[in-house]
Amino acid sequence: MDIQFTPEDIAFQKEVKAFLSENVTDEIRRGYTGGEVDPDIMVKWQKILHKQGWVAPNWPAEIGGTGWTITQKYIFENECAESGAPSVIPFGLKMVAPVIYTFGSDEQKKRFLPDILESNVWWCQGYSEPGAGSDLAALQTKAELDGDHYVVNGQKIWTTYAQDADWIFCLVRTSSEGKRQAGISFLLIDMKTPGVEVRKIDTIDNQHTLNEVFFDNVRVPVENRIGEENKGWTYAKVLLTHERTAIAGVAQSKKGLQKLKEFAAQEKVGAGVLADDPLFTAKIAKVEIDLMALEYTELRAIASVSAGGAPGPESSILKIRGTEIQQAVSELTIEACGHYAHVINDGEAIGNDMSWVASAKYLYGRASTIYGGSNEVQKNIIAKMVLGL
Ligand SMILES: Cc1cc2nc3c(=O)[nH]c(=O)nc-3n(C[C@H](O)[C@H](O)[C@H](O)COP(=O)(O)OP(=O)(O)OC[C@H]3O[C@@H](n4cnc5c(N)ncnc54)[C@H](O)[C@@H]3O)c2cc1C
Repeated sequence: MDIQFTPEDIAFQKEVKAFLSENVTDEIRRGYTGGEVDPDIMVKWQKILHKQGWVAPNWPAEIGGTGWTITQKYIFENECAESGAPSVIPFGLKMVAPVIYTFGSDEQKKRFLPDILESNVWWCQGYSEPGAGSDLAALQTKAELDGDHYVVNGQKIWTTYAQDADWIFCLVRTSSEGKRQAGISFLLIDMKTPGVEVRKIDTIDNQHTLNEVFFDNVRVPVENRIGEENKGWTYAKVLLTHERTAIAGVAQSKKGLQKLKEFAAQEKVGAGVLADDPLFTAKIAKVEIDLMALEYTELRAIASVSAGGAPGPESSILKIRGTEIQQAVSELTIEACGHYAHVINDGEAIGNDMSWVASAKYLYGRASTIYGGSNEVQKNIIAKMVLGL
């Protein structure tokens, strides 16, 4: 992609590079590579970013954002990926925070945003339920008013990092009258409240990322509701567009592809050089072209957020193509590693900074076309909202 950097942009890029080379150590790189996280390392890294004032580039500048131009955000994302810095955990900084600063009361902004910026609290997302995933409006977790509290009963599922979370943002049913979407509210729940129980879900990649969360007569102060009762669906949708934009991971895919190309150029004992195989290089070229096209779409989305809006339905395009490309890169990595994919620490094999076996990344990556709203459902959204079908 041909982006014309001004002298100021080039100076900014130098500043970012210098900051990252000083702060992104091997330990920091191990914090999060796209699945299980090390919470202590992630908190350390996010606090380093916060101290620098760079942890929330997309927040409005007056409450802790950076006020960067689109080009500066682009440079920052790409330099972070290049350095192997872990992506920040999205649930607080990228998901619930935009809902709080857009729809929350002044009191809620004061209470929650500083702790999110400083990574003092961890958040998880309580949207999905058994029977309410793609059809999210079918959710049944009930919140009934009892004085100045809601009493919450029900179950969430696939709750990423709930085992480490201090708070959960939840969609709950506060009315069963009228349209299903019109009876949902957005509640912030302290995970330490009596009656909240987290149970681990075992997954094929043998990591602990997923959980079920149960609510048994959990008392939640009414002041923890964002916005109006029964208007939660509106807030939830805004959050989802931010989530889908964040999932695209263009800079990370670019880095993954670059590492794959370096690996393919190495001489393997008894197997020659993979980069000399025209069939394999054609596959890499295809992914590279798709990625370049996606990058332009991502820049359009960043531009719309920078202009003060939320990302629109183009976030669904980003989500579909971004996750398809992530999977294509991980599939090619497996192909390149061959049977060693199961045993090689690809950090050693590719000469890079990752600490996972390629197969673990590949297996976790299967989920990217499901979470954040499955890709089939994103196609429905594009058909309706973009094509008007
Ligand atoms: C790794 C991972 C992490 C997750 N983290 C979280 C989290 O932190 N918090 C949270 O709330 N949720 C989380 N989820 C849940 C995720 O959002 C749901 O899995 C997703 O929305 C799909 O819902 P479902 O699993 O109930 O599948 P279903 O909705 O039952 O879908 C099953 C299949 O049917 C297809 N389908 C369904 N409806 C349609 C339709 N109308 N048109 C075409 N095809 C359709 C789907 O695409 C899918 O292939 C996570 C999921 C995964 C896999």
